[in-house]
Amino acid sequence: MADDAGPNDDTAADRATEPEPSATATSARSSNAENSFQSTYAWSPDEASCAECGGSVAARWRDDGDLVCAACKSW
Ligand SMILES: [Zn+2]
Repeated sequence: MADDAGPNDDTAADRATEPEPSATATSARSSNAENSFQSTYAWSPDEASCAECGGSVAARWRDDGDLVCAACKSW
């Protein structure tokens, strides 16, 4: 029990004094950029159906909430 209390206290203290250690902040920032990129673009290694023409494509883009192929995407 004493062993559990120690590490937990250390974690809480670290967060209070330094919420974002530099290494974590850097990786969090790059993953955030990837997430916003993937919200408009979806890559399916096994291919997926276009919501517009039904064709099987690996890369789809979000268009009016649907994932469509490059040909159906209104650019
Ligand atoms: Zn299509």
